[in-house]
Amino acid sequence: MISIDRPTADLGDVRVTNRAAVLRHVRRHAPCSRADVAAHTGLNKATVSSLVAELIEHGLLRETGLTENRVGRPATMLVLDGSRYAGLGLRVGADELVAVAAGLGGDPVLTWRRAFPAATAGPEETVKALAALTRRAVTRIGADRTVLGLTVAVPGMVDPDGDVPAAPALGWRGVPLAASVRRALRDPGFPVAVDTEANLAVLAERRHGPYAATTDLVHLTGGPAIGAGLISGGRLLRGGRGFAGDVGHLPLAADGPACDCGRRGCLTALLGVDAVICRLLPDAGPVTDHLPEIERIQALARAGNEPVRTGLTEIGRLLGQAVSVLSGLLDPEVVVVGGHLAALAPWLLPAAHAELAARTPVPPGVRLEASTLGSAAGALGGATAALATVEAGRLPAG
Ligand SMILES: [Zn+2]
Repeated sequence: MISIDRPTADLGDVRVTNRAAVLRHVRRHAPCSRADVAAHTGLNKATVSSLVAELIEHGLLRETGLTENRVGRPATMLVLDGSRYAGLGLRVGADELVAVAAGLGGDPVLTWRRAFPAATAGPEETVKALAALTRRAVTRIGADRTVLGLTVAVPGMVDPDGDVPAAPALGWRGVPLAASVRRALRDPGFPVAVDTEANLAVLAERRHGPYAATTDLVHLTGGPAIGAGLISGGRLLRGGRGFAGDVGHLPLAADGPACDCGRRGCLTALLGVDAVICRLLPDAGPVTDHLPEIERIQALARAGNEPVRTGLTEIGRLLGQAVSVLSGLLDPEVVVVGGHLAALAPWLLPAAHAELAARTPVPPGVRLEASTLGSAAGALGGATAALATVEAGRLPAG
């Protein structure tokens, strides 16, 4: 929406809003001409020319030659630039840290993974590791780009101040994470925020995944705790306290396995990565590094191992059941599963689809797909979120 007709709007606000509208149009339709931007945003051509000049000057747009492919005289085409800037996202997993830096157009500038046992290391050591990784990333990309912000993705609950009241997958309670990372970085010169892995993963799907145009989208994270990032009507749903999508303890099976919360048969106790490994590889014991075990399950499934295949079908059916609950609440167009649920999707999704179909009153119902973004989804979403102020039309300082 362009708020040029609000009588009380301050002129600076109007320019910010209009700048955001120009950036949004170019992001979706690039390459496009100034005349295209004017026609689609409703802004007049002189305003568009002035905004585009300013955005080019700040390195947010660039010109890319002429097109001859249209009626009338050739026009200079515009694309997003953003090669001077990057957003930084870090994801805290149970057994790894992932760092992603991305440019304004979503181009990945850097993707790093580091094995790190956040659950056993505790919050203090994790903050130190996050700060060290941030410094290294800033050093690596800082010669070419200004880092505009850092967002940390956590598998747990995050309040609006960036505090983590509970992240059972990490064994954390009451961790003032954003403030601690800020302090450890000693005034880094860019904003530091924290959000849930699920919220940031769904943001990454919406921006960079194959469902970018979808306005009603859910990302169900895999990993030790299952969380849901919910986009409804194009907006991220956060709820009253910021805890929307904390679906890990949705009751699915009253007689199911015991959950950390003291009850039985919660979503996490049935579909979380530890639950899946424990069920399919009874000899595995407590696991600190999940990936090799998930690869072992994939190999057994590929080889046609009957108990593993049957187990995966049953887990897929439970996944379909959980997705039908989300679907009944939000009526999303697509639900995307990440983490180990995506890695095991070839064996989980057929049973999940059948279960969903049986529970869908009016077909075709929701589409259930595996994420293509891998374990970097939360970090990529963090990098995207860190660029939000520029995308909202604020010019970067300097
Ligand atoms: Zn529970």
